[in-house]
Amino acid sequence: MKEQLLDKIRKAGVVGAGGAGFPAHVKLNCSPDTVIANCAECEPIIKSDKYLMEEYADEIVSGLESVLFITGASRAVIAVKQKNQTAVEKLKRAMQGKKKIALHLLDNYYPAGDEQQIIYEVTGRVIPVGDIPIKAGCVVLNAQTLYHISQAVEKQPVTGRMVTVGGEVQSPMTAMVPIGTPISYLLKLAGGTTVDDYAMILGGPLMGRVSSHPEQEVVTKTTNGIIILPSEHVLVQKKTDDFDHQLMIAKAACCQCNYCTLICPRSNLGLGVQPHKIMQALTLHNAGPLADGQAALGCCNCGLCTYVGCNMGLSPGRFVTAVRQELLAKKVKSSQKPGMVNVFRNESKVPSKRLIQRMGLTPYDVDIRYADALETPGTVRILLKQHIGAPCVPAVEEGGMVEAGQCIGSMADGSLGADIHASVKGTVTAVNAEYIEISRI
Ligand code: SF4
Ligand code: SF4
Repeated sequence: MKEQLLDKIRKAGVVGAGGAGFPAHVKLNCSPDTVIANCAECEPIIKSDKYLMEEYADEIVSGLESVLFITGASRAVIAVKQKNQTAVEKLKRAMQGKKKIALHLLDNYYPAGDEQQIIYEVTGRVIPVGDIPIKAGCVVLNAQTLYHISQAVEKQPVTGRMVTVGGEVQSPMTAMVPIGTPISYLLKLAGGTTVDDYAMILGGPLMGRVSSHPEQEVVTKTTNGIIILPSEHVLVQKKTDDFDHQLMIAKAACCQCNYCTLICPRSNLGLGVQPHKIMQALTLHNAGPLADGQAALGCCNCGLCTYVGCNMGLSPGRFVTAVRQELLAKKVKSSQKPGMVNVFRNESKVPSKRLIQRMGLTPYDVDIRYADALETPGTVRILLKQHIGAPCVPAVEEGGMVEAGQCIGSMADGSLGADIHASVKGTVTAVNAEYIEISRI
């Protein structure tokens, strides 16, 4: 029975929808004691999980029950922010009578949804740098992934997901949209942009990436939001500024005040992350980027040190991330065990409101409507690679007809990855090395 459920999840193409898209059937082949539903949604502006919980609480809980069955875990905990009152009430109703499932209410801080933070909040455990949650007896799944798992059990493949369109648009919205929907189509449904010279961030404002080809972007299994900001917005400037230019300024301005480390949530969990040390190595001693690398390995790329910690306007987070990536590429592993959790960790948490103010996002922190009856786009472009692993091999040809939910690309035998499915019924109008395009009929 466990194998049958895992096979259904594999065939449905379920991946970790809140992260990099790790295939769920691989992740769930383990034996944790605790399953955590990550419903924290901590990035500013994004409301995709909030509305998913409000509209599909039964499905999220049902997905959690399937995961409990597959893994044999003794309990599941839904970690959700207390501020999302409606979602909390809906989840409570959906959980009624399910003795293995409990609720854990979180403060409204950033980054509450970081895997390390949520595991610590729920279990009091800390995962050593470089290890995965199962080493601490946990499996963490995002709300959208659990929704997809519940659908997969009913033999419904991943064909849609909840996406927020916010920032400089006429009518910000969150909606369940087909995978492959062009972002340009979603911007039109949101009333269009309110500035001509804009940048598009795919994902949350802190951890998302600025798109260099906005007209080519489409919704994938891991797209939770699209944020439009004026090109001159400080967030866009910081994300796109030339690395060497930032380093030159840092050499002149970093005063080694240590505030970036004091605010670092991974440092406060005892994981040895010290952005000021990376800055010291790069700026004062002119050391190579790998000097003091251990101080970078536990970084989660949350950006707090940059957007809240540094009063000199520097971007320590970007340097730490760069050093970490270089270390990982060289397969350098952490040699440190977790240290003591900061006794003032709670006091050092950054409230979301403060973060939003510091980042200049207050004008965009508005009520975002839920759009529940959107017109389906005329054309979708479904990427062959929306997951960790190898791209899918197309299973259809140009000119062929496909039904919604039909498998159109699958993994080669033995490869890590996830199948892809048609999100609309229509004619295949293009097949290439990157995507399959379907025009609706
Ligand atoms: S990067 Fe900024 S916060 Fe960190 S030590 Fe330098 S000046 Fe201080
Ligand atoms: S981005 Fe900065 S604050 Fe966030 S974990 Fe990395 S070093 Fe710490």
